[in-house]
Amino acid sequence: MTQTQDAGPEKSFAFDFLDRNAAEIALLGDSIFYFGELGMQEFETAKLMTELLEEGGFTVERGIAGFPTAFRATFGSGSPVIAIHTEYDANPDNSQKAGVTGPEAIVEGAPGHCEGHNVNAAVMVAGALAAKEAMQKFGLKGALKVFGAPAEEQLVSRPYFVRDGYFDDVDVSLTPHIGAQFNVGYGLIQSALISAYFTFHGETAHAASAPWKGRDALDAVILMDVGMAEHREHMMYRASASLRKAATSQMSSPSARRCGGIFVALPLRPPWRFSSVRRKWPKAPRL
Ligand SMILES: [Zn+2]
Repeated sequence: MTQTQDAGPEKSFAFDFLDRNAAEIALLGDSIFYFGELGMQEFETAKLMTELLEEGGFTVERGIAGFPTAFRATFGSGSPVIAIHTEYDANPDNSQKAGVTGPEAIVEGAPGHCEGHNVNAAVMVAGALAAKEAMQKFGLKGALKVFGAPAEEQLVSRPYFVRDGYFDDVDVSLTPHIGAQFNVGYGLIQSALISAYFTFHGETAHAASAPWKGRDALDAVILMDVGMAEHREHMMYRASASLRKAATSQMSSPSARRCGGIFVALPLRPPWRFSSVRRKWPKAPRL
């Protein structure tokens, strides 16, 4: 049951809406969990979410900012403009049976929702529908804009939403993430992130008969990783890196290795506007 004490009639109405639809909200979260679609491939997920929002009275634009699985669903008009963020991508190799505390894949090696983005998506769609019902009942002014952001794990979609001006008129932005505590933060939290992949190319050679002819791309990856780790201590921003793609054979120097990185791009200090971010990053490549 949600807390309704001293909430006022509008919030109490919205809480009641959520309570009455709790089973459906859980079903939405469970459906997205079992879709388990990787970033940029969330087709079934986005279809279900947009259909629900459309049935609930939102106007849906699909494929915004060049992303096939992105969307914006709008209700109302005028001020204030409230952005409600959703994300719904699964993680690679995270297939996991529900309700089991130890690692136990549904399908070995398949993607899964261990990051909990299925919950992030379901609660925000539910919250948007509840707020919309309350706005209609009590004649509240303003606009709700539900943003469906693909591939959150690759940090890829929201910078493009910013670039294309989708947040220029937004007054407040609500972002959820499942976590270990039941709490809410406000203000400038989280960070503006971008990600990049670096691929190092080497030269393949037989590791036993002619190792001196080889150039192992892994050496470059390791040097970059170590350099990054040392540099991180003195950076103002958060940064992390992960390595992808393993050796092809123990007896040869692999010719290519991949290093994925996540880098904070923008120092965010008040006063801060989305339009200023766009000015800082005007030449972002088109997808
Ligand atoms: Zn996440």
